[in-house]
Amino acid sequence: MTLDQLPTLRETLEAHGLWAKKAFGQHFLLDLNITRKIARLAEVGDDDHVIEVGPGPGGLTRALVETGARVTAIEKDERFRPLLEELAAASAGRLTLIFGDALTADEANIAGGEPAHLVSNLPYNVGTPLLIKWLTGPWTPASLTLMFQKEVADRITAEAGDDAYGRLAVIAQATAHARPVLDVPARAFTPPPKVESAVVRVEPRADRPAPDRLDALQKITAAAFGQRRKMLRSSLKALGGEALVASAGLDPAARAEVIPVEGFLALADAWLAAR
Ligand code: SAM
Repeated sequence: MTLDQLPTLRETLEAHGLWAKKAFGQHFLLDLNITRKIARLAEVGDDDHVIEVGPGPGGLTRALVETGARVTAIEKDERFRPLLEELAAASAGRLTLIFGDALTADEANIAGGEPAHLVSNLPYNVGTPLLIKWLTGPWTPASLTLMFQKEVADRITAEAGDDAYGRLAVIAQATAHARPVLDVPARAFTPPPKVESAVVRVEPRADRPAPDRLDALQKITAAAFGQRRKMLRSSLKALGGEALVASAGLDPAARAEVIPVEGFLALADAWLAAR
């Protein structure tokens, strides 16, 4: 069987007696028009290697394989094994399956030293920790095209002064360029989640901060946004307080929510220099 001879996703789920499980954050995209759109936004094709987290029924996986890319899909829910093995058999060797937890997956080993792109309709319960892992961990993807809850997408792309601006925006934007590329309504999913979703395109920066600078940035943002209504001289007291903030060229009376990403990088540098 080839990809275009496969039954529809809905028929496939029924044939395998599968349904969505809340505990695995499962909301499926069963409309291939939408999954093909996401694959186009990922800008992948022949010769590219894509790592997909959570293929589930394989709608996005089908669209990714159709682009000509080689896909490695990591799925935690073993119930999908027979269905995904059928898809792999129809994919002319372009789909490799790994059954396990993406949080502990060794992407560097999976990518085998070549660049790889991440594309995923992320499980809601682990979307943020996975993004942080890919942006601050030892392995960096060539690009990321990821579906999040709209509220999380807003927290990734927010600017200083926005309500959604916080730790996630600072870490994401210090390490990457991130922009929303597609809004997806709840009714596009089976079953529909309670909230709207959005696809975010993330391109890691070539000048990503070094690991010690990233660690410092994590410390500073945790303290500053842990008490976001307080002035920096108070929220950062344990890390150097007023002297630290002043040496970073910032106003000690300012609050975390108005400090742009460069300001947090300056604070991280000042903290490293003072140690
Ligand atoms: N890609 C499919 C789609 O678009 O229809 C399914 C998306 S669903 C939102 C998330 C998928 O991630 C589910 O298949 C779920 O079993 C899987 N999943 C949840 N947690 C995971 C983890 N830690 N590692 C790998 N897969 C996970």
